[in-house]
Amino acid sequence: MNIITIPVTAFAQNCRIIICQQSNQAAIIDPGGDVNKLVEQITQLKVTLIAVYLTHGHLDHVAAAKALSELYMIDIIGPHQDDQFWFDALPLQAQMFGLETISPFYPTRWLQHNDSLELGGLCFEVKHCPGHTPGHVIFYERNTAKLIVGDVIFQGSIGRTDFPQGNSVQLLASIQSHILILDDSVEILPGHGSNTTVGIERKTNPFISGQFG
Ligand SMILES: [Zn+2]
Ligand SMILES: [Zn+2]
Repeated sequence: MNIITIPVTAFAQNCRIIICQQSNQAAIIDPGGDVNKLVEQITQLKVTLIAVYLTHGHLDHVAAAKALSELYMIDIIGPHQDDQFWFDALPLQAQMFGLETISPFYPTRWLQHNDSLELGGLCFEVKHCPGHTPGHVIFYERNTAKLIVGDVIFQGSIGRTDFPQGNSVQLLASIQSHILILDDSVEILPGHGSNTTVGIERKTNPFISGQFG
């Protein structure tokens, strides 16, 4: 697996192009904006883009999804349908976040907990992790031990829960059941900031190690 990280929008959201090197197939995860920059990268990499995956419905994670799906004639997959209200509210989100205006769109396919997505020789297990948003999903590639977590957990922090339908108890439960159960060596790729590992967060993240009660 080859992973290219491209920070997009004023929020430096980590859009990622995930490539299966055997098949040269790629998926783009959370294309939150800056379409031209993303297209340039895809062209340079000479990969076959087969899908857009979305972790949740926040604008800085989804704003370029529709344009890419039309340009490459590919599906938009995820998140869980509990995030539908965030897609209904895309124009309002643009106002809220001070980003470019956008028309609402919806994924081609909503995801369910324990779905799996094949990308060439890679297989992503889908885990429904509500809390930051109710329909947030994360993607786990077991063979390469990579976990793409969107805004569920960050290096030394966790996702905000002060948005509509955010829930801090649910978020901590999601982290416990779907992230902390994994091996220490699993690499965590968050939607903002640096990569980390399950082991590092287990030991040092103040929001989950009990230091903050
Ligand atoms: Zn978010
Ligand atoms: Zn975000």
